[in-house]
Amino acid sequence: METFRYLPGVTTLALDSEACVGCGLCTTVCPQGVLELREGLAVLIDRDACMECGACALNCPSGALTVTPGVGCAAYIIQTWLKGRGVKTSGCC
Ligand code: SF4
Ligand code: SF4
Repeated sequence: METFRYLPGVTTLALDSEACVGCGLCTTVCPQGVLELREGLAVLIDRDACMECGACALNCPSGALTVTPGVGCAAYIIQTWLKGRGVKTSGCC
């Protein structure tokens, strides 16, 4: 699957490193490779690749991750991707 990106610096994704317990779940569920474990803690290695799907925050046991799903542009990215393949979309973006 292609790696989708939107405008830099617009994602609502935030990581509270002090709350992270290093379980690694976020690195497992993220489809974009945004997070990585380094020295036992999660770090954002490619924040602008976040498509605000919300999977990391949903699975984080300590509340270290927050994101507002869809506000940034997951919908825009998906719509663009579908339009590029000649698929009809709702035209909301
Ligand atoms: S919101 Fe989705 S794309 Fe963004 S960091 Fe979390 S799992 Fe990855
Ligand atoms: S899921 Fe939460 S607690 Fe686990 S490594 Fe990621 S940020 Fe840290």
